[in-house]
Amino acid sequence: MAARVVERRLNADTSDQAAPTLRCGCGKDAHYAGRRRKTITTVLGDITLERAYYHCEACKAGFCPRDRALGVEGTSLSPAVTRMVGLTAAMVSFAESSELMHELAGVPVGAKQVERTAEGLGREIAQDERTVINPEPPAAPTMCLGMDGTGVPIRASELYGRHGKQPDGSAKTREVKLVTVWTAEGRDLEGLPVRDRGSVTYSAAIESAASRDTEEALSAFAQRADREAQRRGFDQVKRRVVLGDGAPWIWNLADELFPGAIQVVDLFHAKQHLSDVAKAIYGPGNALGRQWARQRHAELDEGKLDALLGAMRRHSGTNDEARKCLDYITRNQARMRYPEFRAQELCVSSGVVEAGCKLAICTRLKRAGMHWTVAGADAIIALRCCKLSGRFEDFWERRSAGASAGAA
Ligand SMILES: [Zn+2]
Repeated sequence: MAARVVERRLNADTSDQAAPTLRCGCGKDAHYAGRRRKTITTVLGDITLERAYYHCEACKAGFCPRDRALGVEGTSLSPAVTRMVGLTAAMVSFAESSELMHELAGVPVGAKQVERTAEGLGREIAQDERTVINPEPPAAPTMCLGMDGTGVPIRASELYGRHGKQPDGSAKTREVKLVTVWTAEGRDLEGLPVRDRGSVTYSAAIESAASRDTEEALSAFAQRADREAQRRGFDQVKRRVVLGDGAPWIWNLADELFPGAIQVVDLFHAKQHLSDVAKAIYGPGNALGRQWARQRHAELDEGKLDALLGAMRRHSGTNDEARKCLDYITRNQARMRYPEFRAQELCVSSGVVEAGCKLAICTRLKRAGMHWTVAGADAIIALRCCKLSGRFEDFWERRSAGASAGAA
């Protein structure tokens, strides 16, 4: 009923054919060429619109001014339905999103259409993220920025010739790099800093972090981290902490972008590394191995890095994992001064970065049977990061303002 009322009201209004010609995107004149029908899926149900159609002889293209005014150009979904698709597909798979739309709102949108629409929105968001910064003042006197990478499964056709970690040297994944910013002003029962709820934002993409000496411009991911830092006021704050696992690209980038920031190896990750070495030496599930790991964890917590290095050295001649870990600790000693960091009330662990990577990337993009194109993965990553960072409403406002400005 409501759909019929809206349909009748819109179709009774033929003011969209008032001009005999309109300027085409190519610069030439497009001529009015009759009214054309198109069915739009709205939250009220399907409505069939009859809109004035303008055709351009010069570029053989056509357009309907009303589609622009209503925000349905190039899509058969109303803006409200498009928004619902974006919000659900950010959180769950395309098939689940389609099901939710049907069950909760009674709106039939097929999984393929969800995919196309969500990817389209994600591309818009990625573009918006690159151009709109809107810096905020720092949320606290100390701010934390973490970086991490994780492999996302990519379709074989897009990986041809890439080197990877498969036994034959081929690749099954591409690395998504993530930057996350948060504050940790709150304290737990032991007085240790904990991440403040709602303070976490994310930005990620399949991008390179490597910048060569010969290049003037920052790498794509360095630019992303820089934008996120500006957005959050991280670059303005008194005390800056950069957290990461031991990966060299993270520290190279931190030196490049945030000189003077305190660099900390995520304690959670460091301990995981030590547990992996214990498994490599003693075998998985071994009681001696567990005890050995506990001792190493304690040395790390207490800042006894010499003892820790000594223990690694005893195994590094015969065990590859121990040798790698010896390197890792040697390289990162200055970033593992945990008692000192704790005395300064800095956030050292938490696994915030690791958890962020799982939440922002893995739970949506690394589910069984998922294989992405690079463009598709990047679009959904942008959509999801936007949603999880509490930025979707702002984006939607800008998008709606843009659409109505175009219509006017
Ligand atoms: Zn034209």
